[in-house]
Amino acid sequence: MNELSQKIQEGMGRSRYQARTVSITHLAEVQGAVAQLVRRGLVNEQLYKKWHFYLDTNKNLPEAKTIIIVAMPAPLTRVRFKYNGIDYSADIPPDYCAKNVKESRAEEVLDNVLKASGYKIAKAHLALKTLAARSGLAEYGRNNITYVSGMGSLCMLVAFYTDWPCEEDNWQESKMMEACENCSLCLEDCPTGSISTDRFLIRAENCLGSLQEMNPDSPYWVKLQPDWHNALVGCMRCQFACPVDKSYLNKIEAGPSFSEEETNLILNKMPWERLSPETRQRLEFFGGIYPFLARNLGALIEKQSKITHR
Ligand code: SF4
Ligand code: SF4
Repeated sequence: MNELSQKIQEGMGRSRYQARTVSITHLAEVQGAVAQLVRRGLVNEQLYKKWHFYLDTNKNLPEAKTIIIVAMPAPLTRVRFKYNGIDYSADIPPDYCAKNVKESRAEEVLDNVLKASGYKIAKAHLALKTLAARSGLAEYGRNNITYVSGMGSLCMLVAFYTDWPCEEDNWQESKMMEACENCSLCLEDCPTGSISTDRFLIRAENCLGSLQEMNPDSPYWVKLQPDWHNALVGCMRCQFACPVDKSYLNKIEAGPSFSEEETNLILNKMPWERLSPETRQRLEFFGGIYPFLARNLGALIEKQSKITHR
């Protein structure tokens, strides 16, 4: 391993991050992976529109020679809301909390090593799961979620372009975890039947995670099933069921708490700009989920109230 590669690994390792490099010559293949799904009719039009930006060329750093993909541990975060005198808690999956802070830490490592040596760095907007799997950083689960050694699926991914020449091209075929060979727990626990045995790709157009991100209002067939809700945003059912994630799911970080008054404002969809700066600051911890928060929180409160009154 050359000196710069070693310094990157050491810097990432200090935050328990892991990084891999692939040559920029694979950029078309990363972008093509999404285009291929579109061509084969395996993603619907709405998802295609959402993912279309992956097909953009490398505008941020056209002279890039290397893509660096980084995995960052991201445990579940538990947020508390007070409503009608009762404390409700809700979990937020990885990928939503303090994303910018974690990504900045990765960028800082690259700045300290590569920028300090005269190379440029730019954030890469790519299909991160594809890149993680094709670089050997991660393996796929049957649920199409990427699992990183030492983190399970409780991690976030970020990628960067750099004009540093690629010392180690880790490009390879993506793999499914060995643990999935004789296991179907995620498939059995998926409420929407999105995971199947007849194809590797999940039916993302039915997956609660994708649906919640695409529609401010849930489709009627999701509304009919309030028991399906299990997280403040997205869905964690297939990860909760996964034996590989067992030890990583035990670690839950405490997130912000919201008073009775704040919870009422959220549930009543108070416009963002009319919330107090303090409330907005705590909500910003979850990234841009405010447009979906009233719907998801309302459903979770309803579900937990039913359980309490049984
Ligand atoms: S639950 Fe089983 S089949 Fe599904 S991702 Fe985990 S190990 Fe693989
Ligand atoms: S996130 Fe939820 S809906 Fe999507 S595949 Fe996993 S269990 Fe099914």
